[in-house]
This record gives sequence, structure tokens and C-alpha cells, in this order.
Amino acid sequence: MADVFLGLGANLGDRGATLRRALEVLAAHPRLRLRARSRLRRTAPVGGPSQPDYANAVARLETSLSPWELLRWCQCVERRFHRRRTGRDHPRTLDLDLLLYGDWSCSEPELTVPHPRMFERPFVTVPLAEIVPRLVRS
Ligand code: AMP
Repeated sequence: MADVFLGLGANLGDRGATLRRALEVLAAHPRLRLRARSRLRRTAPVGGPSQPDYANAVARLETSLSPWELLRWCQCVERRFHRRRTGRDHPRTLDLDLLLYGDWSCSEPELTVPHPRMFERPFVTVPLAEIVPRLVRS
């Protein structure tokens, strides 16, 4: 079983409800188990056009899915929440990022793990520190 961290974000529609429901849908996969989730936080968008604030959270899960299977499952859940790919840093109903997958790493464009910008982004590091303080330097 791998210890994985996902970043969740939403800035269209009912953001809080989307993140709570998305976590339920994600963890309903028979090969995934939710171990911890941070509080939801409201954050200002980074980059992209003028757009609403985000709700963000980080979740820790245990899985027997491979990293690529997990990415595909995340994309499937994004589509279920009507995610449309309009452009980088554009507003979205749901964004799921695979932040860490145990100590596995990969740098393909389709899957870069650890997520390349995760430690620069307070909307990731703050909720991550809430659930695993030792992962984030203060
Ligand atoms: P975004 O628009 O931010 O959701 O980026 C989605 C694209 O990033 C997809 O084509 C993914 O294949 C790719 N990607 C690369 N690394 C990751 C990762 N660690 N988590 C999620 N998507 C990733």
C-alpha cells in the first residue's frame, strides 16, 4: 500500500460542497482509503485571468493503485464534477493534484511527482502541515 497526498482545489460553484463530495467520491474507490484530510481553506488564485478565490484542502490516502492508475482516477473524478480544460491556471470546478506518492518520483509531463510547485504554494503547504507537520519546514 502506498501513502499518498492529494491537493484539492475548486473556485467555481459551491466550492466547499464540491471538495467535500469529491473526497467522498475519490475514497469510494475500492483500492483507496482516506486516512486524513485538512480543513478547507479559502485562498487567492495564483496566476491566470481574474477569477474567484479558491477553496483548497489536502488529503492523505492509502492505496494499492499505481501512480498512473491514481492519476486516471483523479481525472475521472474531475470530469464527474464537470471539470473542463480551458487553460493553465483558469478557474475550475475541481482540480486534483497528485502531490506525493510514497517516495516514488517521476518527471513525465503527464505525471510529475513530487508535484513540482507544491512546496512553493501556501495553499498546499499550509494544509499539508496541518496533517503531517514534519513534511513541511516552518
Ligand atoms: P491542471 O490543469 O493543473 O489540472 O494540470 C493537468 C495536467 O497536468 C494533466 O495533463 C496531468 O497529466 C498533468 N500532471 C502532471 N503532473 C501531475 C500531478 N502530479 N498531478 C496531477 N496532474 C499532473
